[in-house]
Amino acid sequence: MAEAVSVKKLTHFINGQLVEGKSGNYANVYNPSTGEVIAEVPLATAEETSEAIAAAEAAFPAWRDIAVAKRVEVIIRFRQLITENIDQLLNIICTESGKTLEDARGEIIRGLESVDLAIGAPHLMKGEYSVNVGGQINSYSAKYPLGVVAAISPFNFPIMVPLAQTSMAVAVGNAVILKASEKVPMTALFVSELWKKAGLPDGIWTVVNGSKEAVNELLENPSVQAISFVGSTPIAKYIYETGSKYGKRVTALGGGKNNMVVMPDADIEQVANAFIGAAYGAASQRCMAISTIMPVGEETANKLVAILKEKISKLKVGSYTEEGTDFGPVISKESKEGILKAIDRAEQQGATVVNDGRTLNMAENSNGYFVGPTLLDNITTEMDIFELEVFGPARNVVRVASLAEAIAVINSQELANGVTIFTNDGAAARKFTTEIDVGMVGVNVPIPIPVGYHNFAGFKGSRFGEGHMFGPDQARFYTKTKTISERWIEVTEKTESTFAFPSN
Ligand code: NAD
Repeated sequence: MAEAVSVKKLTHFINGQLVEGKSGNYANVYNPSTGEVIAEVPLATAEETSEAIAAAEAAFPAWRDIAVAKRVEVIIRFRQLITENIDQLLNIICTESGKTLEDARGEIIRGLESVDLAIGAPHLMKGEYSVNVGGQINSYSAKYPLGVVAAISPFNFPIMVPLAQTSMAVAVGNAVILKASEKVPMTALFVSELWKKAGLPDGIWTVVNGSKEAVNELLENPSVQAISFVGSTPIAKYIYETGSKYGKRVTALGGGKNNMVVMPDADIEQVANAFIGAAYGAASQRCMAISTIMPVGEETANKLVAILKEKISKLKVGSYTEEGTDFGPVISKESKEGILKAIDRAEQQGATVVNDGRTLNMAENSNGYFVGPTLLDNITTEMDIFELEVFGPARNVVRVASLAEAIAVINSQELANGVTIFTNDGAAARKFTTEIDVGMVGVNVPIPIPVGYHNFAGFKGSRFGEGHMFGPDQARFYTKTKTISERWIEVTEKTESTFAFPSN
């Protein structure tokens, strides 16, 4: 008889406590490798969200007024606790997201880069000072935290994205509310316990679980000063437009449809290896996953597709608990159905199915949401799949005749998160990096995801608003600059009122 799975009732984390949901509405949390319900997550009402915001607002001034070096001490302890509890974190992330252990470990390490950057907050908070700007006046600018800020995160990086969205916000003195993805809420709740153990005062870190109703309260509540959103493009656009309407600072990062251009002079075997990892890793559920390989010239394309076909046929799809798994399931039944539909549609529209993941036989895990690695050749710009972000292992080959055509085709796309080129020709690489209209560009690297201390964001439909995730821009996004002009003199003679605009 199959072992019964115990279903946990999850909570929120408000004012330093695990708090039960009051709405009575819960969503199921699944283990995507087995299809089993492993937990129920409460969906917060607007009222519950508003109460959490009020608690954060009350906690903010004391945290703002603590010396930045003292705040950083908490961040350092938090970092230490993440590394000490890495096995438990891996277990939670893999269970609720379906990632392989190796992939989840990579995500935690990349998440720690954002924590490391936040440890440098004192440096990033420094202002500017000018003496004697006029009439014994000194002028300086200083960065102040905003107050209550909110982060809304996607399912595909249960820890890396929330850490990137929030570590700096906490370090520079804000009170942060995380609305984690309702598909992977257990990681966020575990992280809450680590913040508490690290000594973060109650109310500075909050997790409100939920979906649209909770998000709308964060967008509309006047006490929330800034919103950092990461997720799909239609929701990113909605968040940006609504948050801006309510007067908030908003950065909303959306989806990606990332291309890898292959020049005829590239080492094709090396390119094939780079593509497979970057394209199918995490079951292609990465905003920076390579969606499309774009060989230049028929000869390059034919050679490449032949090598890819063979290598892709050997990939192992399975649960993270199985030895040698290359990638796991997609996040949900609905997601799996959408991916299969996109493959069917591409085939109907004339694509050649080189590797067919629709037929994957997962006898041992028949209820898991597995899709096999799929490669679709001869994709044209007229087909639906050319623009569609398929968040699963269905990848495309778009054949082009020249580098100029590759650049034109890529620049015509709505999503512009990441792109990369493989070549040994410096002039081609330079032309590409100059003319391509995409936020993150690689040359001979499979996934051009910047390290945590560089800014991260796409262009066009991949980002709404001006901010970045990761990098020093985080310190700017989560602070406001005040410019102060000061004059301290011994008054010997009174000055008269002047009505002209002040100048030297
Ligand atoms: P999603 O847009 O469905 O959800 C993201 C967040 O928005 C979740 O917290 C969800 O609860 C909330 N949400 C969903 N629908 C909402 C609505 N109607 N109103 C208000 N809030 C709503 O995204 P997802 O499926 O969780 O994540 C995958 C997507 O995120 C992909 O498109 C991927 O490319 C993108 N992503 C982008 C980046 C990036 O840096 N650009 C990074 C990771 C993921």
